[in-house]
Amino acid sequence: MTALTSLLEKYSKPGPRYTSYPTAPYFHAGFNESHWLEELQGSQSLARDLSLYFHIPFCDTLCYYCGCNMVATGDYSKATHYLEYLDREMALVQGHVAPGRRVRQLHFGGGTPTYLKPQDIRRLMEMIRARFDLADDAEMGCEADPRELTREHLQALRESGFNRLSIGVQDLDDRVQKAVNRVQPEAMIRQVYDWARELGFQSINMDLIVGLPHQSVSSFSETLTRTLAWAPDRFAVFAYAHVPWMKKHQKLILEKDLPDFQARLDLQQLIHDRMGEAGYVNIGLDHFAKPDDEMVKAQCSKTLWRNFQGYTTHKDCDIYAFGASSISQTLDCYMQNEKNVKRYQELVASGHLPVERGLRLTRDDQIRRDAITKVMCDLELGMAVFGTEWDIDFQQYFADAITDLAPLAADGLVQLAGDRIQVTDLGRLFLRNIAMCFDHYLKQPAQAGQPRYSRTA
Ligand code: SF4
Repeated sequence: MTALTSLLEKYSKPGPRYTSYPTAPYFHAGFNESHWLEELQGSQSLARDLSLYFHIPFCDTLCYYCGCNMVATGDYSKATHYLEYLDREMALVQGHVAPGRRVRQLHFGGGTPTYLKPQDIRRLMEMIRARFDLADDAEMGCEADPRELTREHLQALRESGFNRLSIGVQDLDDRVQKAVNRVQPEAMIRQVYDWARELGFQSINMDLIVGLPHQSVSSFSETLTRTLAWAPDRFAVFAYAHVPWMKKHQKLILEKDLPDFQARLDLQQLIHDRMGEAGYVNIGLDHFAKPDDEMVKAQCSKTLWRNFQGYTTHKDCDIYAFGASSISQTLDCYMQNEKNVKRYQELVASGHLPVERGLRLTRDDQIRRDAITKVMCDLELGMAVFGTEWDIDFQQYFADAITDLAPLAADGLVQLAGDRIQVTDLGRLFLRNIAMCFDHYLKQPAQAGQPRYSRTA
């Protein structure tokens, strides 16, 4: 066992990924439509730009590892119908948006956004532009599934203003692809990548997944060799979370086929080594980017942020999210839409904002979110400055966190030098563990019904 894999083993425990704090399991139904309406109306500062998210839940088939809110259907009319509701939902929100608020960022996620036919991609973007003021240089990204993609899809995205593409690759090995019901030959993915480059997408990300059935160090090494040779701008290498008690279809993946704990550790070591050798910067968690990428620049200039899509370069935006299950975010609140597509459509049809649950942050939540964000995005935190910003005595307020960080410091994951908490290069692989030291909710006594998180390694 290497020094790294023994640390990965030591720190492997269930923990959140902190795409929000408090994390989504703490959102509650007590936060309802009138609370969100009040928040929308009361948070219209022109100082904060907008980031829009659109959830397209439809997919042709089900990938067995899927953790998303999705609907597998061959009935395309469901998607055209759904766009009408997205437009109606936008109209409900638009009525409360102060004139002059600009959209700096826009993202299509899913599900499979490229399930939409090219003409419907254009139609949706026309609807959006009719309702919101998009900045000319807005960062516009879309998730793409190579299996359904034609050049016309990518052309529709480019002509609608999209400049970023995220391609779901996951693993190139045939046996792995068959075991997760997502068969996509390498030539097909390569074709999509070439089209995207040819059409001038500014940034191309590839999603890979580690921990899938039949994956081994040698098979995944081959996937890395082949995808690294294409030199995308970014990689997101997610660890598969096997949570069949939450996602019933994951029972279709046989546990005996999953890599064991040691193999998972070895795979993490492999990714760390190979990404580093290829010159990618480890942003944190599962994200790697070329040194000249916006994300690396944003990390250096401390403007990186985390939201429900992972890391983002747009820190001071409110997120308005549209579609079933999507999550909106302002400075003070999180709000999740109704997850069920039929109920979502019924609510919108009856003129309601389709709020399912949400949360208004307390002052303690705000302080802890800021600390967690600084650790996960800036990789450092100045205690005195932080204390002044929040009018607290940092040492006193976070006495428990400082105690919890001590063993991580002893293992070289953070440095507690003077007034600074500094994440080390090694610590970038343990950001969830470091952030967990600041999480008030994790420190509460365990109760029945408390969230169960995936493991950190
Ligand atoms: S394409 Fe994505 S959302 Fe659809 S089933 Fe596969 S993993 Fe899930």
